[in-house]
Amino acid sequence: MASLDATTRVPEKRVSELLALVRERNPFQRSRLEALGPEPALADLPPLTKRELVEDQERHPPFGTNLTYPLERYTQLHQTSGTTGPPLRVLDTAEDWAWWRGRFAHMLTAAGVGASDRVGLAYSFGPHVHFWAAMEGLREVEAMAVPLGGMTSVQRLGTLADIGATAVWCTPTYALRLAEVAVEQRLDAALQSVQRVICTGEPGASLPAVRSRIEEGFGATCIDHAGLTEAGPFGYPCLEGGGLHVDESEFVCEILDADLQPAAPGQRGELVLTPLGRTGFPVLRYRTGDVVVNSDEPCPAGHQDRWLPGGIVGRTDDMVVIRGMNVYPSAIEEAVRRVSGSGEFRITFYSEPSGLDEIKLEVELPEGAGARGLQEIMRQQLGLRVRIVPVTPGVLPRSDAKSRRVVDERPSRWTEG
Ligand SMILES: [Zn+2]
Repeated sequence: MASLDATTRVPEKRVSELLALVRERNPFQRSRLEALGPEPALADLPPLTKRELVEDQERHPPFGTNLTYPLERYTQLHQTSGTTGPPLRVLDTAEDWAWWRGRFAHMLTAAGVGASDRVGLAYSFGPHVHFWAAMEGLREVEAMAVPLGGMTSVQRLGTLADIGATAVWCTPTYALRLAEVAVEQRLDAALQSVQRVICTGEPGASLPAVRSRIEEGFGATCIDHAGLTEAGPFGYPCLEGGGLHVDESEFVCEILDADLQPAAPGQRGELVLTPLGRTGFPVLRYRTGDVVVNSDEPCPAGHQDRWLPGGIVGRTDDMVVIRGMNVYPSAIEEAVRRVSGSGEFRITFYSEPSGLDEIKLEVELPEGAGARGLQEIMRQQLGLRVRIVPVTPGVLPRSDAKSRRVVDERPSRWTEG
């Protein structure tokens, strides 16, 4: 019988209860477990990919077979964004939804958000779970939720000023955009009451240069947290040490390398999670696609939960192999944000007629500034040869949702998975 990475604090009893429950009632999980023989342990299960859940749903529309209870028990339906494949529908029972609410409240409490806060939600409420779960979490900590959907940035700034908002919740991309609009429209005063920017939906807020850009723009603390539709909200901020903690009271956490073995200390790996309290749509050893550094350092505040000092550092599906090197667009973004005055950017991967893969980085830079320094940062820190194309500020497309800043123009080829 295999065992999990010893550094994980596994609540054994809850794990065995979850395994027993799904073996009895969940057709999808039962077939996975039965294939492993009698009484398998969690660590015996091959890590689960989103693709397997999507394929199950395609074979058994509309909800698939990863359901522990009869359909009438489920009250919430959300779906993944489908940026890397067809969307996945995910159902929650009332009990599971209460679990989401509790986990979001736990995160908000760690972030210092409570009853005296007025929180502007600067997004439109689509089918994605984190918008709705954010509302639930705010209710649980008795903060005031202020929906800002369907508004222009100027209208949002006006509303934030009128109500004296203490926090704004949005994607890091949009936080940068909102701060930019405030300056352009001479509405900087609108952000004066804001003490916290809670970032969601993208890993950007974990990147030190993105964080400091947001913190400068708002004169506020940038709060990161992490979660995903399939596994739930698993990461809460460490205000003292920075980065994130994995909520190990509710998630079994592993960090695995490319061979799905525990990543060595100090190495990057993929976060693999087993949520223990969401039983209606359970995922066991779920491959989140989030890349983190396996640190064995305790955080400076002495919190017990596993600390990710750099938060989420990238996505496995964002990673591109260029001339044999693993390239994370987030690392390029971090370098861009370090250049003072830099604006929007676009990364294009392309092939030269010779067949060699190349990287082009278009970046908005003030006249005459930064391009050479940026090239040096890329070369020295990332070991990348990047063609930098400075463009006039304001010309690259802006988006409020998950940013679309990476273009892959290389001919299609075999990829893993
Ligand atoms: Zn901590």
